Amino acid sequence: MAKINENKIWRIAARIDDEIIIKQASSIEKATRTVRNAVFQRLCDSAEIEYELGWWKGHRHAPRRDFVDNFIGKPLYVFVDEEFEVDLHEVPYEVYSIEQVRLTFRKMSLMTPDNIDSWGYLHWGQGDSEKFSLLGEKLPIPPHLALSKGFEEEEVLALSDAQECFDSCPGCNREIPFGTIILVTEHFRLMPANCCGKMIWQKEEDSVDNDEWV
Ligand SMILES: [Zn+2]
Repeated sequence: MAKINENKIWRIAARIDDEIIIKQASSIEKATRTVRNAVFQRLCDSAEIEYELGWWKGHRHAPRRDFVDNFIGKPLYVFVDEEFEVDLHEVPYEVYSIEQVRLTFRKMSLMTPDNIDSWGYLHWGQGDSEKFSLLGEKLPIPPHLALSKGFEEEEVLALSDAQECFDSCPGCNREIPFGTIILVTEHFRLMPANCCGKMIWQKEEDSVDNDEWV
């Protein structure tokens, strides 16, 4: 076992909204976790989203950790009473927008048919500007459809008109509402179906045979 120096500690600093947050702990993992949490908490407050337990866990949430890590400087192993030197920690000056935060942390919970309009915009608020285009965005592929075991995402390459692709909704068999779209990625199709409120995924190879919809 590595000898732990009782006089030394891991110290990490972050800068958010021009304020410096300093966290320290006996292990680098613990210090990292605390500083990430502090940054995430600040982001939640600014974007008015709820703090989510375990927000950082797993491969699926790597983009969230990466986003938060942009605000965090270099961890240093220092003496407990050593003065804090912001320059030594190389604390970045990261800027962000509320939109970015909402997208990074809430994209998946926002992905429901009623939040997606006929032009492929995902709405994250009531206002006219509170939306962003899904075209060019990456969508996490549902694990049961993914080609490999790991977490996959694919970029939305195109939008199509669902009425041109189907006679009826593969989810509920009803008529497809006017303006329903299909988000097209390299290997998948996603139809946000307003008729039944379902997000209907299909693998590209199945597209000839509509029975394969899930
Ligand atoms: Zn339907």
